[in-house]
Amino acid sequence: MAKPEKLIENGIRLDGRKPDELRHIKIKVGVLNRADGSCYFEFGGNKVIAAVYGPREVHPRHMQKSTSAVVRYRYNMASFSVEERKRPGPDRRSIEVSKVSRESLEPVIFQEYFPRSAIDIFVEVLQADAGTRTAGINAASIALADAGIPMKSLVSACAAGKIDDTVVLDLNKDEDNYGQADMPIAMTPEGNITLLQMDGHLTREEFGEAFELAKNGCKAIYELQRAALMEKYASQTEGDVVE
Ligand code: UDP
Repeated sequence: MAKPEKLIENGIRLDGRKPDELRHIKIKVGVLNRADGSCYFEFGGNKVIAAVYGPREVHPRHMQKSTSAVVRYRYNMASFSVEERKRPGPDRRSIEVSKVSRESLEPVIFQEYFPRSAIDIFVEVLQADAGTRTAGINAASIALADAGIPMKSLVSACAAGKIDDTVVLDLNKDEDNYGQADMPIAMTPEGNITLLQMDGHLTREEFGEAFELAKNGCKAIYELQRAALMEKYASQTEGDVVE
């Protein structure tokens, strides 16, 4: 899309949202038979799948740690996920996204219970519309729980930023492209921040405002993550009783 004249008019964004509104979220837990845990996560125009394997043997062996598990995270964008075909394979951006996403989840994983083993997280972006790292973290956190990996809590992520001098929650691609700031955040339900990045500029006040928006966004996402897990496991338990 060419640069629109305005990204927000009378408090309503081009996609019809209010400044503090998240995009529509759809979650499905346990979508892949061969992974230990998995999750499909739709976040507006973003569609991602997370697969988790482990705890399992570490290959190559030299990567293993004697006192804890190694957590590995691979974020990958399908070549068809973006407007302009992406060259397949890792690049600087995907290596960075993989690193910060791994670091956003490591604090909640009880790695010390699984020395010499690996917990592998794969995130595949099928469709991208800005916010793929946060969608990936949300999906991965659910997939870890689905795999039965002991965790202190789930992790929820979303971005806040600034468009046309207005602080808004959860920027879409056009808002990210033509906006003034984008700040992805991940946190635990207790409010411990595990990821905070920022592109662009915010004043101290704007930062505070954006941070509040993102915090509320993460809270809302946490409820949806929890509900999605409950939906899978509560219905399975009920099924067992009936059988
Ligand atoms: N994008 C793209 N091609 C690329 C990388 C990114 O079209 O090679 C788009 C994609 O829609 C992505 C958005 O740019 O979601 C924003 O990318 P950013 O690096 O800010 O990460 P994200 O917001 O997806 O976590």
